[in-house]
Amino acid sequence: MKKLTKLRTKLNLQENRLRENFEMLDQIRADAVNDIESLTEDFQHMTLVAESIRRNYRALLAQNQLLKDTLLSIVDECECWPQNRCDRCQQILKIIASDNSEQKPDAAQKYRGILSQLRNLG
Ligand SMILES: [Zn+2]
Repeated sequence: MKKLTKLRTKLNLQENRLRENFEMLDQIRADAVNDIESLTEDFQHMTLVAESIRRNYRALLAQNQLLKDTLLSIVDECECWPQNRCDRCQQILKIIASDNSEQKPDAAQKYRGILSQLRNLG
């Protein structure tokens, strides 16, 4: 009788441990599901941010293009000739040229700076 009680206690202990294990695994799975859900929300948020940046950048490019087209049309409509541009057209052409060439090396420089900063962080 004593032996049986002892065995039953042992079995109960095993069963309890098993149940606790199951509960713990369920908790871990629930946590994982929560983590995935919050990751999904983060990605959705980042996608929205990227989308907004892309839209703004596209609008900026369109605006920039419009400005250049307008400036060029002023030069086209002017009475001066390509071989002999007036002061105003020379000024306009200089602005358009500097927008194309002088700012790019600067942008590349900044990009390199950001990249090296990111590498230093990692
Ligand atoms: Zn002109």
